Amino acid sequence: MIDDVWRRVVEEIRSFPAEIRDLPVSRVAAPSELRTRLARYDLESPVPIEELVDGVCRLMRTYAVHVVHPRYFGLFNPSVRGAGIIGDTLAALYNPQLAAWSHAPAAQELERLVLARFADALGFDPATTASNFTTGGAEANLSAVLAAVARRYPDAGRSGLAGVRARPAIYLSDAAHHSFVKIARMTGVGTDALRPVRTTERFAVDIDDLRRRIASDLELGYEPLLVVGTAGTTATGAIDPLPELAAAAREFGAWFHVDAAWGGSAVLSHRLRPALDGIDRADSVTWDAHKWLSVPMGAGMFFCRHPDAVGRAFSTETAYMPAETRDADDPYRTTAQWSRRAIGLKVFLSVAELGLPGYGELIERQAEMGDRLRARLTDAGWDIVNDTPLPLVCFTHPRIRRAALTAEDLAARVNRRGRAWISHVVPAGDRPAVLRACVTSYRTDEADLDCLVSELEAARRDEASAANVRQARGGG
Ligand SMILES: *Cc1c(COP(=O)(O)O)cnc(C)c1O
Repeated sequence: MIDDVWRRVVEEIRSFPAEIRDLPVSRVAAPSELRTRLARYDLESPVPIEELVDGVCRLMRTYAVHVVHPRYFGLFNPSVRGAGIIGDTLAALYNPQLAAWSHAPAAQELERLVLARFADALGFDPATTASNFTTGGAEANLSAVLAAVARRYPDAGRSGLAGVRARPAIYLSDAAHHSFVKIARMTGVGTDALRPVRTTERFAVDIDDLRRRIASDLELGYEPLLVVGTAGTTATGAIDPLPELAAAAREFGAWFHVDAAWGGSAVLSHRLRPALDGIDRADSVTWDAHKWLSVPMGAGMFFCRHPDAVGRAFSTETAYMPAETRDADDPYRTTAQWSRRAIGLKVFLSVAELGLPGYGELIERQAEMGDRLRARLTDAGWDIVNDTPLPLVCFTHPRIRRAALTAEDLAARVNRRGRAWISHVVPAGDRPAVLRACVTSYRTDEADLDCLVSELEAARRDEASAANVRQARGGG
């Protein structure tokens, strides 16, 4: 019996990626429909695992936006590679506890091996870099703020920020990730400390506005704690001017953090690497493996040039972790977590299987698909509004500009049709909403791009005729 279940699971792992291309990318479902189907699980009477696996697979296949679909052109959720699924499965199997090196030496060293290579790829010296896997980019960004506070206000860990009587300021563009809002609350610097900097028409930090901001804040008594640059913003894929940000941060004595959660992977590509010049001058970097490195969630990474600050932010002593088993870099003393999954195992297997140059090719291919999508959209009469070498295309249409259609309605219509999935986005600075298509799957090919463009055209025609009908009715 149990053999049959494993066979069923393995068969699903094998067949789902092969079948996904022919399945709808998403399906609109009412919560009530789903809850009706779940009513059979009363969680009182035991259910045989075969039946549960069958039921769960059916539910997961039916009710989801399938982010592993080659025509999911959505947020930065990747199609996952087989090696990553194997890695996550083995992590669950052995369940190593990575809080301390001494408990999981093999898993720990496999992680360090990968992290050292990635630190090197960023232009950091692996020997002097503190690096760790995190649950994701949000935790990595939190780590950066905590380390920056620990370095700037060594006493704040004891006294709290109130005790240091400073008004720390964090400079980021209005296109930076919203995780910083929660981080400002969690760390106690408060959201008033977030000093939004304007973006240029390319949606990247306006460096002149940053300098003006800092100068006027200094007069108000703020202390520039952190300058955040985003390498690949969520809305438009913009890359902030990293060398200029590094220079400004240095000039004003602030920590320079680069949030490269998605875009960081571009350092693995020879062609895209120059776009991230300046990342090597950061004090810390956020880079998610569960985005462009195509491994399952959650796998973020945090790199920091100041191990002493990281230690000050996170190091603790406990009676049940005796000193003789302690390693200076025990993750429980260098990160926010205690119990810790072997996050890096799936990353190690993925990278080792393909090799870093192989990853570079995968990433370049996706960037090329982005270029081709731009060209196809332009040919079909759409206007590209963003400017990035990364495969994220923001676009609009003359009819949207004339307010005859909305980007939101068009995206919803494409998604309801089920053959592709895209989103709409309001770029930074209160500009009008546009459509957003990101190549997130290493499986996306030219036929998928053609399909997206024809779905957009069909949605545009449908929406235009629906709008005409509405207008005719409205006009009597
Ligand atoms: C995704 C993302 C984050 C948040 O990362 P999670 O892994 O979702 O926690 C932060 N910053 C940027 C630029 C991102 O793209």
